[in-house]
Amino acid sequence: MANESKLLPAIIAHCKEYGFIFPSSEIYDGLQAVYDYGQMGSELKKNIKDHWWRSMTQLQENIVGLDAAIFMHPTTWKASGHVDNFNDPMIDNKDSNKRYRVDHLIEAHADQLKETGKTAEADQLIADMEALLGKDDFAGLKSLIETNKVSCSISGTCNWTDIRQFNLMFATEFGSTEGEDNKVYLRPETAQGIFVNFLNVQKTGRMKVPFGIAQVGKAFRNEIVARQFIFRMREFEQMEMQFFVRPGTQKEWYEYWKEARLKWHLALGLPVDKYRYHDHVKLAHYADAACDIEFAFPMGFKELEGIHSRTDFDLKQHQEYSKKKQQYFDNDVDPATGKPYGNYIPYVIETSIGLDRMFLAVISHAYEEQDLSTEEKQDSRVVLKLPPVLAPIKMAVLPLNKKDGLPEIADAILADCRPHFRCFYEEKDSIGKRYRRMDALGTPFCVTVDYQTKEDNTVTIRHRDSMEQERVPISALRSIVQQAITI
Ligand code: ATP
Repeated sequence: MANESKLLPAIIAHCKEYGFIFPSSEIYDGLQAVYDYGQMGSELKKNIKDHWWRSMTQLQENIVGLDAAIFMHPTTWKASGHVDNFNDPMIDNKDSNKRYRVDHLIEAHADQLKETGKTAEADQLIADMEALLGKDDFAGLKSLIETNKVSCSISGTCNWTDIRQFNLMFATEFGSTEGEDNKVYLRPETAQGIFVNFLNVQKTGRMKVPFGIAQVGKAFRNEIVARQFIFRMREFEQMEMQFFVRPGTQKEWYEYWKEARLKWHLALGLPVDKYRYHDHVKLAHYADAACDIEFAFPMGFKELEGIHSRTDFDLKQHQEYSKKKQQYFDNDVDPATGKPYGNYIPYVIETSIGLDRMFLAVISHAYEEQDLSTEEKQDSRVVLKLPPVLAPIKMAVLPLNKKDGLPEIADAILADCRPHFRCFYEEKDSIGKRYRRMDALGTPFCVTVDYQTKEDNTVTIRHRDSMEQERVPISALRSIVQQAITI
C-alpha cells in the first residue's frame, strides 16, 4: 500500500489513467482547482448523488427536492450576509509572493509542531488562533504568526504582509450592459435557493413543519488556496438539505441529523474509525450550533460534511430584504397554552455535504495496492473496493473466447441485465488482464462465459474483493448483482 504522502498522488494518477477525473481543459494546461469527470468518474459521481437523493427524499416522509437556478437575484447575497461576510483572512509572503489562508498557514505550522512532539504548544497555537479569528483580530493574528515564527514553505522566511479579507464569491455581468447594477454572483452555496423557495414549496406541497427541502447543485468559490485535488475546488457540487422546524426544537433536530448523517456514511460500508465529529468553536454568523463530520482523507482528518443549526437567520433576513413575510402557520396545539402554535418563522437545521469531497472520500478509502506474489511468480493488483451500490460498472461479462458462440451467450446475459444495472462487455486480452482492469475500475462482479456454459447454462462469477470464483446458473446472475447493489 502506498504510504500516506504517496497515496494522494497515486489516487490522482489512477483517476486520470482510468477515466475518473481529468484536469479541466487539460490541452491548455488545465485550470487550477477545476476538474472534469470522465467516463468512469461521471458514473461514480452520479451514483453518489442518486444514492444521497434517494436516501434524503424518496426514503423520507417529509423531505422534498428542489432544483433552483445558479443565478439568483443579487439581493439574495446581501440578505444572506455573503456580500459582507463571506471572506477568508489571507496573508502574503513578501519574498515568495505566495498567498495563504491564515488558518491554513497556522494549522500547517501546528501540524509540524505535533510531528516533533510539541503537542501542547501546537494545541495552544490553535486555541489562540481560534480565539483571535473569533474576534476578527487581524493584528493579533499577524503577531501570533510572527511570534511563533511561522514561515513560508517556499521562501522559508517570516516576511509577511498585513492580513486582509478576501471575498470568495465570483461575480459576473448579467445582460448586455456593464456596471454595478448588473452584477450577479455565481452562488457560493445551494442553500439560498432553498430559502427563497421556502414558501413556494411549503404552500404548493402542503408541507407541514417539520419538513425538509433537498437540493444537489453546483456552487462556486474563489478559494484563496485551492489544493488537494478535488477536496478544495473553485467549482464544485453540494448536496444540501434544509430542515424547517418549530422554534425551540432546533437542538433535538440538530442532534437527530448529526447522528442520521453519520449513519448514512456508515451504511455505505465506510468504517467508523475513518469518521469523527468536530464541533465548531467559532460559529458562523447565522448558527447557534454547528459541527463537521470529518473523514480520514489521505491528507488527514478533514471536513466532509457540515451540520448547522442556522436558527431563523436566513428566512428572517429574506423577509427583511424582500419585504415578504416568510412565516408559517402552525395549527398544532401547544400543550402549554392549549392553543395552536400559530405564526412563526421556522428554525433550520442544514446538512451540507460536498459531492466531490464524498467522491474523494469514497475513492481514497476504496483504493488498494495489493501484492499477490507467490513463490512461483510476482504479481500485484490495484483494486478499487467501492461500495457496489456506487461502482460505475456493476457487472462485466467476459467470454473466454471471441468465437464458438460464446459472445452470443454473453450478449443474451447483457440483454437481460442491462435494463437493471450498468454492465460492460470485453472480449479482448486474457481473462487475467481483463479481471485486473475491472478491479482497477471497481467492478464488483466479473462473469466469465466458457465452454461449460454451452453445456449446462452456468457461468463463473468472480468477486472483486476476495477474487473468489463460483459457478452459478445464468438465471441467478441478475438477482445476485441486484442484491449486492441494494442498500
Ligand atoms: P472548508 O472549511 O473546508 O472551506 P466550509 O466550512 O467553508 O469548508 P461549507 O460552507 O460548510 O464548507 O460547505 C459545505 C460542504 O461543501 C463542505 O463540508 C464541503 O464538503 C463542501 N465544500 C465547501 N467548499 C468546497 C470546495 N471549495 N471544494 C469542494 N467542496 C467544498
